[in-house]
Amino acid sequence: MRSKWPNLKTPTNINAVNLTLAQALVHASAQAVDRLDAQLLMLKVLMREQTERAWLIAHDDQLLTPNQWREFEQLLLSRSQGQPLAYLVGEKEFFGLTLNVSAHVLIPRPDTETLVEWALNTVKFSCLQAPTVVDLGTGSGAVALAIKANAQHAQVTALDLNPEALALARLNGQRLQLDVHWMESNWLQGIQGPQTRGFDLVVSNPPYIEDGDPHMAQLLFEPVSALTAGADGLSDIRTIIQQAPSHLNTDGWLLLEHGWNQANAVAQLLRQQGFTDVQSRTDLGGNTRCTGGKWVFTHT
Ligand code: GLN
Repeated sequence: MRSKWPNLKTPTNINAVNLTLAQALVHASAQAVDRLDAQLLMLKVLMREQTERAWLIAHDDQLLTPNQWREFEQLLLSRSQGQPLAYLVGEKEFFGLTLNVSAHVLIPRPDTETLVEWALNTVKFSCLQAPTVVDLGTGSGAVALAIKANAQHAQVTALDLNPEALALARLNGQRLQLDVHWMESNWLQGIQGPQTRGFDLVVSNPPYIEDGDPHMAQLLFEPVSALTAGADGLSDIRTIIQQAPSHLNTDGWLLLEHGWNQANAVAQLLRQQGFTDVQSRTDLGGNTRCTGGKWVFTHT
């Protein structure tokens, strides 16, 4: 008996047949692409929202055009070669915000929501009318935008060294209608707070993986400069801890994300620099993910 499925092996056949969405999704599973990933890639091809999986299931007898099919095949291939789904669909959800992402930026991780929650507590706890916040190495803008979205009274600045990352972050801000001040900068070098005031809060999810860490073998597609930082992974964290005091207002906080095993080292660096109330926070995976401290001297 002849198979009811078209022969999907050769592109000539593919162009000749009209495939339904259901058939294309069966093909995706034969390519060992996860079912959910395939559905999200299909929605991308159909230019529908990533939230429309119910629509997809209800309309899976609809036909794909040859161009849509070709695009879907290409995306399946990239996914099966390890390209992160977020880059292929061009977006990632973070702290309830949908952010555009590209290969110029780190894909926001759920781990980083710990940093945002701590930052929001700090901002809400402060009695200031318009606390000044700066996010260093903002990438897609994830941390800065999540703070601004949940603390509208904060004056948020976000910095990145990479102009392409900054352009994407700015676009995310415009799309989400969140007023963040974007600036190109190498950490805090040459930066001043709004109206030359210092900052009440400095936050960062800097690169912190050790050069040569075997974990990097799984992170082939994201910018290395956003991931690794020297032999012990702490070189950017050291720079930030050294720079922060001259930019912090008195009683201002510096909060840093770091690797699961770096809390003690970061706490020690903060204390050595003169920070007080040094403490850490745990992520949902149970790892000590963030460490921060308070700066009690007025900057000059
Ligand atoms: N937490 C990320 C990871 O281990 C790294 C993020 C970073 O270096 N800031 O995949």
